[in-house]
Amino acid sequence: MIHGRLNFRIEAKSTDSRARAATLRTAHNEVRTPLFMPVGTQATVKGQLTQALEDAGSQILLANTYHLLLRPGPEVFRRIGGIHNFMSWKNSVLTDSGGFQIFSLTHSREMTEAGATFRSYLDGRTIVLSPELSIETQKAIGSDIMMVLDQCISSIADEATARDALGVTHRWAARSLAARGDSNQALFAIVQGALFPGLRRESANALSEMPFDGFAIGGLAVGESRAEREDMCELTAQLLPHDLPRYLMGVGTPLDILEAVHRGVDMFDCIIPTQVAQRGAAFTSRGFLQLRRSVYKFSETCLDPLCNCPTCSRYSRAYLHHLAKTGEHLGWQLLGQHNLYFYHQLMRDIRQSILEDRFLELYREKRAFLHESDADHPVKQQKPRRKMAFHLGNYEVHRAPEGFASIRQISSGEIMHARTPPMVEAHRLYIEQSDLPTRLRIRADEEASTEIAPLVIWDVGLGAAANAMAAILCYEAQAATGPIRPMDVISFENDLDPLRLAFLHNREFTYLRHPGVGGILAAGRWHSQRHSGLRWALVHGDFLASIPNAPAAPDLIFFDLFSSKTDGDHWTLAAFQQIYAACRGRAVELFTYTCSTPIRAALLAAGFQVAKGRSTGEKVETTVALTPAAVNGQSPAQHEMLGAEWLGRWSRSTARFPADVFPENQALFEQAIRDHPQFRGL
Ligand SMILES: [Zn+2]
Repeated sequence: MIHGRLNFRIEAKSTDSRARAATLRTAHNEVRTPLFMPVGTQATVKGQLTQALEDAGSQILLANTYHLLLRPGPEVFRRIGGIHNFMSWKNSVLTDSGGFQIFSLTHSREMTEAGATFRSYLDGRTIVLSPELSIETQKAIGSDIMMVLDQCISSIADEATARDALGVTHRWAARSLAARGDSNQALFAIVQGALFPGLRRESANALSEMPFDGFAIGGLAVGESRAEREDMCELTAQLLPHDLPRYLMGVGTPLDILEAVHRGVDMFDCIIPTQVAQRGAAFTSRGFLQLRRSVYKFSETCLDPLCNCPTCSRYSRAYLHHLAKTGEHLGWQLLGQHNLYFYHQLMRDIRQSILEDRFLELYREKRAFLHESDADHPVKQQKPRRKMAFHLGNYEVHRAPEGFASIRQISSGEIMHARTPPMVEAHRLYIEQSDLPTRLRIRADEEASTEIAPLVIWDVGLGAAANAMAAILCYEAQAATGPIRPMDVISFENDLDPLRLAFLHNREFTYLRHPGVGGILAAGRWHSQRHSGLRWALVHGDFLASIPNAPAAPDLIFFDLFSSKTDGDHWTLAAFQQIYAACRGRAVELFTYTCSTPIRAALLAAGFQVAKGRSTGEKVETTVALTPAAVNGQSPAQHEMLGAEWLGRWSRSTARFPADVFPENQALFEQAIRDHPQFRGL
C-alpha cells in the first residue's frame, strides 16, 4: 500500500521485533529506511563537504527553520531557488519547524495561541513565529519534508500544563496543514505529551486523524532516563499509523538508534557524530575510541579496520591522536566524516538484517559492543605493583612545600588540592558550604514516616576520594549523635588510578584507611556495616555519558573534575544543560572550586541560579549553582547570589562565552544571561 506524498512503502517487517524496512520517495531521491539524518542546522553539517556527505550515504539532511529564518532569511532562498541549490546538495532536506529552538529561549519568548513571539538575537527585531510563518519559511527553503510548529513541553511540566500545551500543538498542526495547501512538500506532525502515557495517546490519536505524511515523536532526548525514553518511544510508535514513516527527533547514540528501530521507528537525526568528533572521539567496530588517549600515540593502524571511509583508508590512529591532542580542525573533520560513515553503515546493516529477517540476531550482536570502549585497549587499570610506586598510570604522589601529600596528573601537571590538604579543602568547600550536618537531620514532618528519602550526593570526579570520604566521615560523626536520614554517595570517575595510588600511600592519605575505599576499589560499591543508611557507589566511565546510569537523581553535586584546560568537555554549556536536565524538578545545589566567568555564565544559561562560594586557600571565590527549587527556600544553606556587579563585570569581560558557544550563538547566549530571572529588576 502506498500512502501520503512520500509514497511510503514497507518492504519488510521483522517477525520477532517491531523493526521495519521501507522506502519513500521525495522530490529529490528515493530514500531507504531505517535511516539517519545528519544535522545541518545552518545549512551545513559542521566541517563536512556536501560531496563527502553524499559519498557517506546521507540520504536526507536536517536543516533548521528558526536559524535560517533569521539568517540568511527566506528571501535568499526564494531568489536562489531553495536550499538544495544554495548549499549544492543533491539529496533530500528535512526542515525542523523552529519550535524546539524557541522553546529553548526560556527567558525571551512568549507563547500565545497565535504563535511564539521572540526577539531576533541578530538584530533585536520582534518576530511572531506562527504555524503559518513557519510553513511559509519552510516552503521558501524548499525542503522535501517540513515539520509542523509545535509547542514543546518542558520535561518537568505537570500534567495540566502539558495538556494545555498539547491542545495548542494540535490546533497548530491543523493550521500548518492548511498553510501547506497543495504544495508537494511533505509535512510531518509531532506527537508531544512529555512522559504522560495518557497524553501521548491523546496526541497520537488526535494527529493521526489529520492527513499528515509522517509522524515525529517529539519531546524526548531532553534529559529523561534511557528507560523512560525507550518506554515512551515504544508506546508512541505503536499508537501511530503503521503505514506512514515514524521519526524520533534528536536521537541519538548508535545504541539508542538500534533500540528505537527495535521499537518500530524509521528515521533519526542527531548531532552526536560530529559533536563527539569535535571532542576527539569515534564510533568504531572495535568500540568507542577517545583518540586523545596516549595508547594511540604510536599506532600506525587505521581508525577502524572494518570501515572504508576516506579517513580510515588514509590516516593512522597516531595522526588522528595528534590532531585531537592539538585541537586541529582537520581532526574534527576527519573523525566527523568517519562517524557519519559509521552511522550510515550501521543503518544499512540494520536495514539489510530486517530485509533478511534476522534483525534480532543483529540487534543482540550490536548491542553487545556498541556501548563498549576500545576493545583492543580497554580503559582498565593495570594491577598496582607490589613495590611501593610513587606513580601509577598518569598520576604521581605530589608533596606540597607545606608537607602534605596530594595527587598530580602527570600529563597536565594539575594537582588535586594543591594549596590545602585534600581533606581540609573537601571539608571547607563541600561539607561546610552545603551544610551537610543540617541536611542529614530528619525534619519534623518526616519523623512519623517509616521510609525517609535518602540524601543523594553526586561526587563528580572521585579522584583520590577526598570529597566522598569527607561526606562519609561527616555522616559517621552525625550518626553518633542520634538518628539521621540515609545518605547515598554516588561517585563518578573514569580513571581509578588516583585512588589506587593514594590508597597505596594511605600512611599519608590517612582518610583512606576506611573500609569504604576497599569496597569501591574491589566491587565499585560499599554498604556500611555500622550504619545501614550509608551507601557509596561508583559509576565508572565518562561523567556526561554516565548520567543516565546514575542510580538516583542528586540533592547535592560536588563538581570537582580537572579544570577546563585539562578536561574541557565537562565545563561547557552543553554539559551543564545535561546536568540541569538530570536535576529537573528537584532542589539541587552544585558546588565547584572555580569562579571562572565563562563557567558561571554557562551555569546561568543552563538554567541554574549562581551564587558566590567561599574562598579556598587558593581561590578568592568558588561557585555555588542552584536549581530554581533550591532557590525557593528549601535549602538550609544561605548563599550570596551574583548580582549587578557580576553582570557588569561579565559584560565587560573578553572571556564571556563557554567554549561550545560558537560565534553565531553568542548574541543569543548574551541575551539569555541578561534576561536571566536572577538578574530581573537590576
Ligand atoms: Zn572510517
